[in-house]
Amino acid sequence: MWALPAGVALIAVSKTHPVEAIREAYDAGQRTFGENRPQELVAKATELPNDVRWHLIGHLQTNKVRHVLPHVEMIESVDSARLAEIIEAEAAKINKTVDILLEIHVASEESKTGWAWDELLAYVVSGVLQKMPHIRVRGVMGIASNTSDETTVRRDFATLREYKNLLAPHFTTAFDTLSMGMSHDYTLAIEEGATQVRIGSAIFGNR
Ligand SMILES: *Cc1c(COP(=O)(O)O)cnc(C)c1O
Repeated sequence: MWALPAGVALIAVSKTHPVEAIREAYDAGQRTFGENRPQELVAKATELPNDVRWHLIGHLQTNKVRHVLPHVEMIESVDSARLAEIIEAEAAKINKTVDILLEIHVASEESKTGWAWDELLAYVVSGVLQKMPHIRVRGVMGIASNTSDETTVRRDFATLREYKNLLAPHFTTAFDTLSMGMSHDYTLAIEEGATQVRIGSAIFGNR
């Protein structure tokens, strides 16, 4: 549907848009969609074909894990040890192995979600995550600062890339995903090494 450089996957972020809009993108060949609310993801997943690959990209409360888990290919927004534990426990119950990304806070705004780097590094070094058999940690996800200043945005993306490279040696499984870049900054993200971009409004229009 969209021409991106080889090696960069498109996550079409369909949040707030109706099933008909997703179906149009599906008919044009798009298969991977991102939603930020568990309930909305589940509702849409039940209405759309089984080969749609759903990525949860928004904050996930632990009490929603069980609900969303059967429908997702990847949870991109894992931002706490407790959430990882619940995902592992619920995935074990349904005998599923799920891909996850570690969401890291790099933006200058306080409000943005994600791990603080020091805490994440300590957690990864502890080795607890690597012992969860129903979780495949595939890489990192992040959101750049919300600014038109290109230098800042580029710096945030470069930081995410560096964090991914620092974490990779701690995993024996393919730790190959760097999910960064949205409608307004994805070209910079790709230049800084994104393997996956999450694009909503540039595809589906404004929300
Ligand atoms: C909404 C959202 C996007 C897509 O944003 P657009 O500006 O519409 O491209 C990407 N990532 C996350 C985490 C989002 O919540």
